[in-house]
Amino acid sequence: MSDWLELDAVAWRARATQGGAALCAGVDASLAAIASLDGQVQAFAVNLADSARERARALAQRLDAGEIPGPLFGVPIALKANMCLEGVETHCGSKLLKGYAPPYSATFVQRVIDAGAIPVGMTHMDEFAMGSSSENSAYETPRNPWDLSRTPGGSSGGSAAAVASCMVPLALGSDTGGSVRQPASFCGLFGLKPSYGRVSRYGLVAFGSSLDAVSPLARSVRDIEQLLFVISGADPRDATCCDLPALEPGSGDPPEATSLRIGVPAEYFGAGIEQGVRETALAALAELKKLGAELVPVDLPHTSYAIPTYYVVATAEASSNLARFDGVAFGQRASGDGSLQGMFAATREAGFGEEVKRRVLLGTYVLSAGYHDKWYGRAQRVRTLLRQDFERAFEKVDLIAGPTSPTTAFRLGERNSDPLAMYQADACTVPTSLAGLPAMSLPVGFTAAADGTQLPVGLQLIAPALEEARILRLAALLERATGAGSQRPPLAAGEFS
Ligand code: GLN
Repeated sequence: MSDWLELDAVAWRARATQGGAALCAGVDASLAAIASLDGQVQAFAVNLADSARERARALAQRLDAGEIPGPLFGVPIALKANMCLEGVETHCGSKLLKGYAPPYSATFVQRVIDAGAIPVGMTHMDEFAMGSSSENSAYETPRNPWDLSRTPGGSSGGSAAAVASCMVPLALGSDTGGSVRQPASFCGLFGLKPSYGRVSRYGLVAFGSSLDAVSPLARSVRDIEQLLFVISGADPRDATCCDLPALEPGSGDPPEATSLRIGVPAEYFGAGIEQGVRETALAALAELKKLGAELVPVDLPHTSYAIPTYYVVATAEASSNLARFDGVAFGQRASGDGSLQGMFAATREAGFGEEVKRRVLLGTYVLSAGYHDKWYGRAQRVRTLLRQDFERAFEKVDLIAGPTSPTTAFRLGERNSDPLAMYQADACTVPTSLAGLPAMSLPVGFTAAADGTQLPVGLQLIAPALEEARILRLAALLERATGAGSQRPPLAAGEFS
């Protein structure tokens, strides 16, 4: 349909800034791809075609009048449905927030818009970002563009599906325990969870406040770097956001793999990791070695405690954060027996889905008087041990590498009835979330599913806190050396002219 769709965001901006007409043609190409593909992919919950065209026309005029274009000028972007964009429905995949439109935009959304990006839609997700397949939703389930019968991952599945199918070059998701890295891995994309505090959370609907990270998804390393540059930096509206300048693209160490020591934790290659995933990840490590990096075995001995710890900390924080959804200030209300308590209960009973209720119950339990220290207090202490594992490993190595997800994309419906099997999807991503470290999934190859379908595999690179630049340098090197991430699913390729 259009050769625009093949471009990454950096190339897109370069072409769009040639003139107003080009800029509008680019946005039209993205909107046409959404019109043609989204019936199958179901990435978008809210279509912003009208406002996107309007914004494109306004930017085109400014460009033609001589304005110096910002770093994302004219680039279409998808936003996850838990991100506040003034006046646009932000339902978080929940019935409770059906029709809720925030009166303000998130800091990171405003920064993306100020940089010239054009939001074209809000994407489907697991309700309140709780899940690993995007199926825990009161709305449509997004599909994996590599195989429409499989999940794109979750909870940012819609954002990942939108980028992988080339409907947009760029998207934002949120990663609390892996919700951007795992979808990136399942869809053959780059997805970076920045260090905790690198990006303001103001305007991201809170799930686990000590874990949530606004995270970019893209088809090239340089796009991730640009988007991170735009959204990062201090924000007086978020006291947990680091008081640091935005991360400049191209900053950090020069791309010299020869000086790098890469830690390989046995815990990330053991039981539970699918053979095809293990082999593809090991092949990527061999590639890094060929580029001159030194592979060093490291121990992360508390790794097996990460999932239970995460599911205490994250549910505790969620139960507290979700208390605000009581029918008073936000979204839908059910009247119940007419009393105030009855209204709260009926609203939450009718508005929340099963997984959200499970988490609220678990979280309330682990925080309750008498059990607080036994569960929540202990989880916090184990969290410290997990962080110390990484600190010790980083005394010996510059980066740590392993698979992003134990499996490739699984079939829709396959894990729905077994929450514990779903929680296992996070085995390799929650440790870094608990430790607050930056981690990126990059596409490193494919492996065949049982039915022969070729599915993407992601490698996760982990760095010490605030060392995103280190990850980006190595990812760029691997991207250049192997062409990893350059393949497109047939569904998308059919749209290129
Ligand atoms: N799958 C994890 C969960 O269900 C992580 C979700 C996320 O990162 N938002 O909690």
